[in-house]
Amino acid sequence: MRVGNLAGRLVIVTGAGAIDVESASGGRFGPEPQAVYDQWAEFAGWAASADAAAAQPYELAQLGAPAPAPRQSFGIGLNYRDHVAESGLTVPDQPSVFTKFPSCITGPHSDVVLPPGGHTDWEVELVAVIGTTARHVSEGAAWSHVAGLTVGQDISERISQLAGSPAQFSLGKSFPGFGPTGPWLVTVDEFANPDDLELGCSVNGDQMQKARTSYLIISVPQLIAKLSAVVTLLPGDIIFTGTPAGVGMGRNPQRWLAPGDEVVSYVEGIGELRQRFLAG
Ligand code: ZN
Repeated sequence: MRVGNLAGRLVIVTGAGAIDVESASGGRFGPEPQAVYDQWAEFAGWAASADAAAAQPYELAQLGAPAPAPRQSFGIGLNYRDHVAESGLTVPDQPSVFTKFPSCITGPHSDVVLPPGGHTDWEVELVAVIGTTARHVSEGAAWSHVAGLTVGQDISERISQLAGSPAQFSLGKSFPGFGPTGPWLVTVDEFANPDDLELGCSVNGDQMQKARTSYLIISVPQLIAKLSAVVTLLPGDIIFTGTPAGVGMGRNPQRWLAPGDEVVSYVEGIGELRQRFLAG
């Protein structure tokens, strides 16, 4: 099942169009996309029987973030070996965790204003959305706490990300529009193997990143186990799971996004994001 946010309303997306959930459920579920995660199990049970004939055509540009206002939004750094190497760092023995503050979360198609004087970079990532509260969850039980997966861009301004000693990543990754997600959430049952999905991104049509999530140093279930050993993961929280090699910072010469650039990001079995960058 694909669950989306169409102009701020919760929808189920099918091949024929979008089913408005509040309308199709007779008001049993409200219109707010973020609120559905607090009733995730009940919603998933109902959605299987939703009236497919209620699907209406829609415009892709109307899609918003599938989890637009998470209470917690985690980023994981240095989680693919080839990206650790291009960063000139060593593989951490614990997850490198930062926050993408929720105000930066946007939908799949957007314009992003470049911070003036910055070095803005791309990072395609698989994003996991929590479906049920997770606290001290084992790796084996972790997938059962995930509502689904979506595509994310962990857009990063490197000067502010790496300022200070020790550097603190969160601000440089939280400028307005720096957290595009979408185009929808795909439930875990849709994937033959949710731990092995191709992901990649291109800038102006040139492929910059291409990898598989099976290369993650700390897998999605391991991340949920490790995070939930410390914090309580809440329904609708999102986890940007890390980026593979091919970011602009790791290239020789380094390359930063410029006004007019377009970044297209994808994850196999989910869909793509499209961001255009504008002068700040
Ligand atoms: Zn990242």
